[in-house]
Amino acid sequence: MSEQKYVYQFGAGQAEGGADMKNLLGGKGANLAEMNRIGVPVPAGFTITTEVSARYNEIGRERVVELIKEQVEQGIAHIEKTMNAKFGDRSDPLLVSVRSGARVSMPGMMDTVLNLGLNEEAVQGLAAKSGNERFAWDSYRRFVQMYGDVVLGLKPESKEDVDPFEAIIEEVKEAKGVTHDTELDANDLKDLVVRFKDAVKKSTGHDFPDDPWDQLWGAIIAVFESWNNERAMVYRKLNGIPDQWGTAVNVQAMVYGNLGDNSATGVAFTRDAGSGEDIFNGEYLINAQGEDVVAGVRTPQQITLEGSRRWAKLAGVSEEERVKQYPSLEEAMPAVYKELSVVEQKLEDHYRDMQDLEFTIQDGRLWLLQTRSGKRTGAAMVRIAIEMLEAGKIDEKAAILRMEPNRLDDLLHPVFDSDALSRAEVITKGLPASPGAATGRIVFFADEAEEWAGRKEDVILVRIETSPEDLAGMNAAKGILTARGGMTSHAAVVARGMGKCCVSGAGAIKIDYKTRKMTVDGVTFSEGDWISLNGTTGDVYRGKIETREPELSGDFGKLMDLCDKHTRMYVRTNADTPHDSEVARNFGARGIGLCRTEHMFFEGDRIKAMREMILASDEAGRRKALEKLLPIQRGDFEGIFEAMESLPVTIRLLDPPLHEFVPHEEENQKEMADELGISAAEVKAKVEELSEFNPMLGHRGCRLGNTYPEITEMQARAIIEAALNVKARGHSVLPEIMVPLIGTKEEYQLQEAIIRDTAEAVFAEREDKVEYLVGTMIEIPRAALVADEIAESAEFFSFGTNDLTQMTFGYSRDDAGKFLKIYLDKKILSVDPFQQLDQLGVGQLVEMGTTRGRSARPDLKVGICGEHGGEPNSVKFCHKVGMNYVSCSPFRVPIARLAAAQAALEEKK
Ligand code: PEP
Ligand code: MG
Repeated sequence: MSEQKYVYQFGAGQAEGGADMKNLLGGKGANLAEMNRIGVPVPAGFTITTEVSARYNEIGRERVVELIKEQVEQGIAHIEKTMNAKFGDRSDPLLVSVRSGARVSMPGMMDTVLNLGLNEEAVQGLAAKSGNERFAWDSYRRFVQMYGDVVLGLKPESKEDVDPFEAIIEEVKEAKGVTHDTELDANDLKDLVVRFKDAVKKSTGHDFPDDPWDQLWGAIIAVFESWNNERAMVYRKLNGIPDQWGTAVNVQAMVYGNLGDNSATGVAFTRDAGSGEDIFNGEYLINAQGEDVVAGVRTPQQITLEGSRRWAKLAGVSEEERVKQYPSLEEAMPAVYKELSVVEQKLEDHYRDMQDLEFTIQDGRLWLLQTRSGKRTGAAMVRIAIEMLEAGKIDEKAAILRMEPNRLDDLLHPVFDSDALSRAEVITKGLPASPGAATGRIVFFADEAEEWAGRKEDVILVRIETSPEDLAGMNAAKGILTARGGMTSHAAVVARGMGKCCVSGAGAIKIDYKTRKMTVDGVTFSEGDWISLNGTTGDVYRGKIETREPELSGDFGKLMDLCDKHTRMYVRTNADTPHDSEVARNFGARGIGLCRTEHMFFEGDRIKAMREMILASDEAGRRKALEKLLPIQRGDFEGIFEAMESLPVTIRLLDPPLHEFVPHEEENQKEMADELGISAAEVKAKVEELSEFNPMLGHRGCRLGNTYPEITEMQARAIIEAALNVKARGHSVLPEIMVPLIGTKEEYQLQEAIIRDTAEAVFAEREDKVEYLVGTMIEIPRAALVADEIAESAEFFSFGTNDLTQMTFGYSRDDAGKFLKIYLDKKILSVDPFQQLDQLGVGQLVEMGTTRGRSARPDLKVGICGEHGGEPNSVKFCHKVGMNYVSCSPFRVPIARLAAAQAALEEKK
């Protein structure tokens, strides 16, 4: 016999495992053991460890069975002894369930077999024991059906086909002239078992296994196999669960909630999973099996009287009818209810968290089948943690650490009405680029989105991709859908900044701007048709789905205060307008980490002056146009400084390639030529001159400022003048001027000299001064490598991890969408590096840049302003490398604050 322990037994108040063994026993197995230890009634059983599942993948069925055979046999003997029944016995058979259970719950993803152990002999025993022949044969036919499906693979052949077992049931019902399964008697069910077994023989070429041991091994192996089924793999990918974890197998004595009117089954939550209210709640059914509660054939009843009354009110059921037809468990079985309410309290107190329970009442006796931390909405997550903290049940550290930062999104954005959503049809899926829910009519052009919105129409702007020209239309739309582009595409970045729902890169959508139609899988949608978007999941729905605005509770504020108490790293925001700055400030941003000045050039008349500057053939011409831009920029900065009163504001000099500011369509070029009083040919020629093969690696960033120093001069002047003006109005200002895209110290120094000279000139003119900093973005790998040289001059660093990721991987930010999805499918990459910072590769550059920078300037202020600054795992990484702050779009500020506090607490662990 092998020395190693592969099987852990539990039952009758004792257990070999415990709650702290989730990795080995899976969540379910660990909790079954724990419940035994604390005196909660649980049917006896055993858990085969997750290690065995991993071994199964390596060594296969035969050798795995050999490895665990003896321990499994001992496990069955233990159940037999505890439950006083015998496997396969004719008079008192032991029946078991076989269920999967991974470290983290993967609801419905893997397989389960119930009533295992039944055969022609045991069914007699079950009939005698229960005194109910129909029940025994119904259990048997359910078992053959489930085993036939899960273990022997008798499934519908395609999604249009019916289940082979259901087809047989329909035949039998039709022959008998009945419509419900419940109208079949014991003889009909016997007939079903025979027909089911025939079907198995016909399909597999083998008899249905009658020996309980054969049945058991078949089921155990099927659970191991189910770890690798399609839906489990997809679920793991979506939830970042490693393939090598494997699943445990729980074998446990069956108990029955369908033995008559003194039996029942149900599910319950120790608190409300939707609102977080501290009220025991759940549903049960008398004389039913677990699956009946979820199957929706009978209306489940509420557990508590209070819950039952609330339900009746919502369902429009009178009190009289409620009492008669749908009494609560509290009324129908008061003694068991009392026992259950003691157990639920005990479990919540023990686990110090809201629990999700499954229970069965067999002949008046309560059994718990499962307890786990209950899934909950973002609002419930916050409320439960804060209330448990205030009740002294958990400490501050536990309250913060148990939060899932991304779930805070639910609290900040509109959400779909859940009833309406359950009826909605998904037409395609794209990337979850910016969270929230949106519903509106399709519009394909940004200017028309503005027009429609002006008429009070709700619109969804649908584009192949967006460009800065679309900004106003994006702002007017309820949501944005693009066919191309990834998580750092223009649409994604801008939408997140606006807190607007966006699904990007929905590749199945074909858009025809000419006919104003889009097609998805052969279905055509026209301008004006309703669609809905879920920016949190990437789902695109047909039609209109009602949405609700979120409400921020007092608990949310308490949580944020708590985070600030425990954090080391603080959070700034990426914002380009006073409105966004204010939103972010209300979410707790402590400054602006990135103000992208280019976004300011698209509104109203500004673009004209900008284009005039671009088209100018010499410096004098450029200066003339820049003079027009100066007061506009200054005004913008004043607005932002005022909104961010007394907090630091990092303003980045112009960054994008200039071609982004000129029109590419002939018609628009003509319009521009008329405006500027030059020929269309001249405009066309200039646009062509500006075109580059790789604009993202071309004439952009500080390369613009170094070739056209007058641009930097104008921007520096606008910033400093704005700061002085705002200071003169009695506000405190802290400008930080940031040079983008440097790769050499010379590039930086040249820009710095222009900024400082300009500032000095303005101070002299105005006879006043303000404190300001000059620093740079680190977004080119070379800059990270020579960070010590750069830090000799630069007063702060901000990691632009969008570009740094682009250049470290060599993946274009604009074009990577085409292959990234395939790379993720093929597991070449485990996550999209534009969403989650690649700590292994890009992270090295970030760490090295920080360390080298601080070696030259120990007090160097370091932050991040790429999209990763609002992604919890990346935020934690930034904490680890010692950054001072992270900066992210306004609506991600609370998420980043929570992740930063978690990082600080995890470090202390
Ligand atoms: C970056 O590159 O990470 C960054 C913040 O700048 P942008 O996205 O504007 O290029
Ligand atoms: Mg950049």
